[in-house]
Amino acid sequence: MGKFQREVPDTLGGAQQRNNPQPCGYFNDRSRECHCTQPMIQRYMGKISGPLLDRIDIHIDVPAVNYKELRAGSEPESSAKIRERVMRAREIQLQRFASSRSRLYCNAQMAPRHIRASCELSADCERLLERAMTQHGMTARAHDRILKVARTVADLEGAPAIEPKHIAEAIQYRTLDQTFWA
Ligand SMILES: [Zn+2]
Repeated sequence: MGKFQREVPDTLGGAQQRNNPQPCGYFNDRSRECHCTQPMIQRYMGKISGPLLDRIDIHIDVPAVNYKELRAGSEPESSAKIRERVMRAREIQLQRFASSRSRLYCNAQMAPRHIRASCELSADCERLLERAMTQHGMTARAHDRILKVARTVADLEGAPAIEPKHIAEAIQYRTLDQTFWA
């Protein structure tokens, strides 16, 4: 019988787990106040491991939109227009890799050597990225992901070179690193 019993990993320790209050779920929500402690939030966020997060290109904390904001306001860019921009960016990427024998067709597939070849950085970009890396203790993997995303942001704009604003935008897309894995 015993050998069929499932082993449940008890990482926190049973007693400790019972004493830990559950997070309220309103952290970073503008409509409700969160009184959770930093350790509580960190423990909760820690359920997604750093190494897993490292493998994701883009992660953003999206606050709840309140109803009024949802209804009011400016006309958003139409999906058709966005589609056009994405198609153009895809075309740029196809051309970028057409000459290489590596059979890539989009930025996301770039290996480190492709990144070195296609994501040349100005001194300004270099400085910005370096500062973000040290400030947030980013890994080499996160660094490469930022470059890939920055390349795509530039492509969406039709910009031939990666500019500091593209790097800055790509860094913003790793908000979870910045808040909890610093
Ligand atoms: Zn809370």
